[in-house]
Amino acid sequence: MSTTLTGLTSAEIAELLAVKPFQGRQIFKWLYQKKVFDFEAMTDLSKPLRSTLKTAYAGHTLELVEMQVCARTGTKKALLRLHDGESVESVLIRDHDRVTLCVSSQVGCALKCDFCATGLAGFTRNLDCAEIIEQVLFLLAGEPMGDRTPNIVFMGMGEPFRNYDTVMKTIHLMMDKEGLGIGARKITVSTAGDIPGIQKFAHEEHQVRLSVSLHAANNTLRSRLVPLNRKYPLEDLRDAILYYQETCGRQITFEWTVLQDVNDSVQDAKELLQFMQHIQASVNLIPWNPVQGLPYAPARMDRCQAFSDTLARAGVACTIRREKGQDIDAACGQLRRTHAV
Ligand code: SAH
Repeated sequence: MSTTLTGLTSAEIAELLAVKPFQGRQIFKWLYQKKVFDFEAMTDLSKPLRSTLKTAYAGHTLELVEMQVCARTGTKKALLRLHDGESVESVLIRDHDRVTLCVSSQVGCALKCDFCATGLAGFTRNLDCAEIIEQVLFLLAGEPMGDRTPNIVFMGMGEPFRNYDTVMKTIHLMMDKEGLGIGARKITVSTAGDIPGIQKFAHEEHQVRLSVSLHAANNTLRSRLVPLNRKYPLEDLRDAILYYQETCGRQITFEWTVLQDVNDSVQDAKELLQFMQHIQASVNLIPWNPVQGLPYAPARMDRCQAFSDTLARAGVACTIRREKGQDIDAACGQLRRTHAV
């Protein structure tokens, strides 16, 4: 396997190649702004540099196996093969002018949330920077974005806080103005409630958003749905979130995957309100996306609505996320499983 230049800053590229900083920036722009991976096509580089690059480096590390596009919604799902034969999926969701990319941070996941497809096959390994950023580059290549930048959510496979340093470095790469130039507030890291990760994230200087996947606000139910709750129960999670907000002052979002007759009642909404006291947060209800073999059903829309109304009456902003990729199995948090690569 030859080394790739994706996943590196322009300064790191210049250092690795022992070229001038401006040449590092030229290559960086080809990769991130033009999404060109073919060194021959990087026409402002000298011929000798181009041929050195061609012999010693690969343009990208991921191989695109398949890109499914939903004609009705414009949702795209990329199935990408890693150098060791593993695979990841990433999704682009279009909502009018708004484009959201859902990226993976790990192959598989160790947390095994009871309703999630990713944990079923267990945890394989962390992704590196190149493998995360290339998901974005592959999805954006050829996508008519104009001057707009996409939103990025770490809601694909894996727990981003279990791959903390790599995810933070990749976020900086995404924000680099000479590259993708994505604003910090357009990037969201979603955690199942990893307390050390939340505490560390409180001290990051950028304004990247935090989402906490809650799904239940009593310990009995949450420990069943999110086994990580046995290690970090709700009281401790609440303290960590309060610490986060005291430290950085940023609002968060609670994700609540709504499962029929499990966590979709008005009583569940009231428990959530209780939990949220003194926390500045909005709530995202995600109707469960069916996963074959798992004993759950998506909550009915009238139940989601009643849940949402309960929150709204208490002054909490709540959105019901209507999945846009169901017909190609492309909902975030539900990736890869239907394919054998
Ligand atoms: N580990 C992180 C990020 C990955 S999952 C986390 O837990 O936040 C992103 C979101 O999708 C989480 O809220 C997760 O609980 C949710 N999710 C997982 N499987 C789902 C499914 N089948 N339907 C709907 N939401 C799902």
